[in-house]
Amino acid sequence: MGDRIEEAVSGRAKCRKCKDKIEKGDLRFGEVDYSFSESGTYKWFHLSCAAAQLPTKLGPALAEFDGEVPDRDQLEAEIAKGRKGKAFPRGELAPSGRAGCLVCDDKIKKGELRLAVEREVDTGSFVAKRPGYVHPACGKGSEYVSEVEDLAAELRENSDLDATQLDALLQAVCE
Ligand SMILES: [Zn+2]
Ligand SMILES: [Zn+2]
Repeated sequence: MGDRIEEAVSGRAKCRKCKDKIEKGDLRFGEVDYSFSESGTYKWFHLSCAAAQLPTKLGPALAEFDGEVPDRDQLEAEIAKGRKGKAFPRGELAPSGRAGCLVCDDKIKKGELRLAVEREVDTGSFVAKRPGYVHPACGKGSEYVSEVEDLAAELRENSDLDATQLDALLQAVCE
């Protein structure tokens, strides 16, 4: 079971963001929710509502969906905007000095540039994705970024940094 886009089979489901009904036949986005059962249930959204609220989840689902999507370009633009500072991997300035680097275990200082990555954590009943942090230099070539296809492009898209910070990040992680 995974997040997905599909045509609404009935007009009964309500959008979790705007609370309006999703009309039968309209495309809707389903976010898998594991809070009620291990196998998961779907929370449904209008596509435009999902673009605003869950851009990092709608993005991959939209890329996989090869059916006709009205306003696909506009949705993609909204997703790109919404990913900034939310999607992984990304560079950011550490908001506090509490997080330790996943690679070297040292603390990452407040205000220091860090690489935020998503890693899988076994909670005991299922595997969840949780954010983790590494020093940019520690992240280079590490398991946390080695499978990202175009790392520099992803970091550019996802990071909400100024040009100087972004350059420093790319140099440390990608070069
Ligand atoms: Zn909605
Ligand atoms: Zn480190």
